[in-house]
Amino acid sequence: MSTQEYFDQGELVAVLTTQPLDRTLDYKAPEGGCFLGAFVEVPLGPRKVLGVVWGAGQGGFDLAKARSVIRVLEVAPMREEMRVFLGKVADYTLTPMPAMLRLATRAPGLGDPPSMRKVYRLGDGEPDRMTDARTRVLEVLRDYGGLAFTLKEMAEQAGVTSSVVKGLVKLGAVREEDSPRDLPYPHLEPELPGKELSEDQARAVATLQTGLRTGDYGTTLLKGVTGSGKTEVYLEAVAETLRMGRQALVLLPEIALTAEFLTRVEARFGARPAEWHSGATMTERRRVWRMVGQGDAQMVIGARSALFLPFRNLGLVVVDEEHDTSYKQEDGVHYSARDMAVLRAAICGARVILASATPSLESWANAEAGKYDRLDLTSRFGAAVLPKMKPIDMRAEQMQPGTWISPSLRQAVLQRIEKSEQSLLFINRRGYAPVTLCRACGEQIACVHCDARMVEHRFLKRLMCHQCGETKPMPEACPSCGVEGKMAPVGPGIERLAEEAEATFPDAKIAMLSSDLFGSARALKAKIEEIAQGDADIIIGTQLVAKGHNFPKLTLVGVIDADLSLHGADLRAAERTFQLMRQVSGRAGRADKPGLALLQTFQPEHPVIRAILSGDEEGFWTAEAAGRQAAGVPPYGRMAGIVLSGPEVGPVFDIGNAMARNDAPLREIGAQVFGPAPAPIARIRGRHRVRLLVKAPKAAPIQDGIAKWIAPLRLKGDIRLTVDIDPQNFY
Ligand code: ADP
Ligand code: ZN
Repeated sequence: MSTQEYFDQGELVAVLTTQPLDRTLDYKAPEGGCFLGAFVEVPLGPRKVLGVVWGAGQGGFDLAKARSVIRVLEVAPMREEMRVFLGKVADYTLTPMPAMLRLATRAPGLGDPPSMRKVYRLGDGEPDRMTDARTRVLEVLRDYGGLAFTLKEMAEQAGVTSSVVKGLVKLGAVREEDSPRDLPYPHLEPELPGKELSEDQARAVATLQTGLRTGDYGTTLLKGVTGSGKTEVYLEAVAETLRMGRQALVLLPEIALTAEFLTRVEARFGARPAEWHSGATMTERRRVWRMVGQGDAQMVIGARSALFLPFRNLGLVVVDEEHDTSYKQEDGVHYSARDMAVLRAAICGARVILASATPSLESWANAEAGKYDRLDLTSRFGAAVLPKMKPIDMRAEQMQPGTWISPSLRQAVLQRIEKSEQSLLFINRRGYAPVTLCRACGEQIACVHCDARMVEHRFLKRLMCHQCGETKPMPEACPSCGVEGKMAPVGPGIERLAEEAEATFPDAKIAMLSSDLFGSARALKAKIEEIAQGDADIIIGTQLVAKGHNFPKLTLVGVIDADLSLHGADLRAAERTFQLMRQVSGRAGRADKPGLALLQTFQPEHPVIRAILSGDEEGFWTAEAAGRQAAGVPPYGRMAGIVLSGPEVGPVFDIGNAMARNDAPLREIGAQVFGPAPAPIARIRGRHRVRLLVKAPKAAPIQDGIAKWIAPLRLKGDIRLTVDIDPQNFY
């Protein structure tokens, strides 16, 4: 990387663009010159594209032909640490640099001059006639002394329509002004009083704050049972970061979780932080991107891609629910936000807190090995105690065909209803039934584009493919044999379970929580809020509810099928079941009443089920770690998944076979290749998928080996290859 920091007009600079090219392009620095890292607009053929000045130009061609940078964008140049970070993520994930730059510039119009909007402040004029509405407007403006409001904010604060405000503008009592949209975020005040901490919590906070004050990199696994106050603890680490004048990033796995969290941040620091996630508007995204870069956003809460925001002085990254699989991005750039957070922090001297009640085996092992520090919060805050966990042995229950709520579970729910407490029935399956079968010919309705069954969604009155999203109406007659009226649902989904619950508990108020039942994140948040207030006797939920919501009246969790995820071929099947069951059970008894979790299972003696019930977490992880070590799989060995896909299965397999034969670069690094084999989902969106799996010893340079291995490939036609380093899902 060049050490030259500034380029005069006409000097040749190398520009990395967002276009899929395998190199930087040379341009002449524009009038006024430009800094290393400057965001620029450059001509490429007939188009203008976004780029970053990456160093001195390479030259080696007729300089008279060099084109000039069109303009330097009015945003802070990309810092060196960001350039290093993008380069390292590219190397780790085998991603081309232009794709990395796209990930780092996902804010539309980031080079545009800030757009303007109308705001309103107190004017000098006196209205001729006062009305209640007018009085309220002027009161609000006076109360907030000097602050400007948009019409929408005015409507919220004073409860008036825009015509009232406009009327006051005409009279001069209110002033209308243009103001840039991209305003700095309100100041967060770390010196506001925090909650009084328990001894455990205070000790953890002190350790984290001491670490932060060193200004050096370090990662801490903050393990604490649900409700132990992990959030309170890491908010104090955020406070210390803010005191040091550095920025904090909190990653959350689920945007539905942000509402509750925002309220807590506001209570602690007096204002809301910046938010970065898919639910944010384009304008909001641009504001966050720019303010983070100029240091006018002290704290960001966001989804995994927030890691690529251009922080000016990042001091802390919190990865909440660090075991959550949604931190792994599985299209475009395949990266793990948890792992890349550690990388980013190491580059810029920041701290990382990985918080979870059920850490990933990776993080647990890193803590065991001393690479991460570990802090434990062992009890729930205040009077709340951990729920009791018990199995319901389904082999001994009298079940009616087509029902899933056992008599024992039914009894337990009835007892809760009598006491006005809430119950949660958990099933990790969306829709009405996972399979729709023709009782005449046995045909199961499948997606025409994918190797997957169509799932009936009664709520939407359609069949849906969970792979590609294709939907179609439920057919009257079997598409295969043509017999009418024989299509039947098989197995339970959340909607069918809700139907059974309604029949079983006719007087209870039942609420369903599944990500696909709500049109917007806002609607989902509102529903969660209502339920938390107690507006449901029974909650029927998918894994959405396993993640960190507080339902104070919830005292019973019934897991409909605890065996469901035990049987995946996935190397993490046991770990995932363990985490999910412990998380879901942790929803019960968060306030003053003790909770109970009942697990319906056909295999109460299964070692994983026994570990879940006994709560012997260290025992579980130790055993699981030993198993993985013996098998040489992550985190004790390295893996990469290669998926080849194309419209015809033959040519895809041919390439896979050729790759398996020509594996010398892999053997050189001590790695082995398995496959090709049809991927577990052999066809998605009409594309056939073939998978190869690379296994390597922990210390092997797996990226180098794979890069050499795939370099000679020339993929013809519509065949695509993706590489997933450290795959989390095998599909
Ligand atoms: P976790 O993140 O570990 O699940 P939380 O931080 O959400 O735990 O805490 C659980 C509940 O207990 C929250 O309602 C929180 O406000 C409350 N709580 C935790 N610690 C304290 C404290 N020191 N003082 C007051 N309330 C607390
Ligand atoms: Zn499909």
